[in-house]
Amino acid sequence: MIQDYKASILIIYTGGTIGMIENPETGALENFDWEQFRHYVPELKRFDYQIDAVMFERPIDSSDMEPKYWVKMVEMISDNYEQYDGFVILHGTDTMAFTASALSFMLENIGKPVIITGSQLPIGQLRTDGKENLLTSIEIAAARNHAGEPMVPEVCIFFENQLLRGNRTTKINAEGFNAFRSYNYPALAHAGIHIKYENHLIRRPDPTRRFQPHYLMDNNLLILTLFPGMRQEIIDTILDQKDLKAVVLKTFGSGNAPQKPWFFNRLKELAERGVIIVNTTQCSTGTVEMHRYETGLQLLQAGAVNGYDSTMESTVAKLMFLLGHGYSNQKILELMNTDIAGEITIEEDL
Ligand code: ASP
Repeated sequence: MIQDYKASILIIYTGGTIGMIENPETGALENFDWEQFRHYVPELKRFDYQIDAVMFERPIDSSDMEPKYWVKMVEMISDNYEQYDGFVILHGTDTMAFTASALSFMLENIGKPVIITGSQLPIGQLRTDGKENLLTSIEIAAARNHAGEPMVPEVCIFFENQLLRGNRTTKINAEGFNAFRSYNYPALAHAGIHIKYENHLIRRPDPTRRFQPHYLMDNNLLILTLFPGMRQEIIDTILDQKDLKAVVLKTFGSGNAPQKPWFFNRLKELAERGVIIVNTTQCSTGTVEMHRYETGLQLLQAGAVNGYDSTMESTVAKLMFLLGHGYSNQKILELMNTDIAGEITIEEDL
């Protein structure tokens, strides 16, 4: 252990329920500032760390999240990268999984922890889950191993008692404190009496390369959830947008779609035009295997690329990231078939 080392943590406060307080006149929840925050969490003083905070000029409900705010978070981290050992982002829970996914791509080869957390109840309320989430996130962001390296140099979500890889998470509960799941990748750590890290599951940066922040995102894409009884006219109208660059299909089971010639032809035509079509499953657990059924194979033949076991949030973020960088169609397809930030599991026979 390195003795007498005082870790430094930067808290980035973006908004969300964790930092809200009830307006006594209207009863509505409104954001408050970092000083008020400190007042509600006096425990922060008990850490033997240097803890600083920066906040969005106007904290937002995360339902208002936009790629421009991801860029802002990346700037806040890269501007302060050398000065701090770890970063804790306070964020609304609604779109937290999208932000975690986006940052995992935008903060390429990050060598320091970025722990995103929030809460279901505001920090000022008696039964808040926010205090514990915040305090444990700070502890994780500051944690180092025996060699003095950060325990978790990844973008993660900490919630309730689990540390999850950011680009593997999904919000699954609108009320419960245990609001996030990572169905296709195990938790990186569990917080109980001790914080138990699963070292073998944690990503490490490539020591031969530098940390590389990225700022370009392109949101010319849509998500299309398939359902029995889809109408051609309606789907055609949606897919007929000239600026459309990618479609995330949420298909059935292991990546299957109805065998309707109009649907197949429409996808084929889009793919030939250079629109990226990604086949992801509506199931929470498991992966897409397009060779398994005729109904999946036809999507492959139409030109769809495998979304493997990725979350919808991570597929959207990855596409925005790749499209934003103006890569060729071929390069994007190649990178969609590559695990670039721990977001997909690729096995030879899928
Ligand atoms: N609507 C809130 C948000 O996402 C909910 C939350 O923070 O839990 O900002």
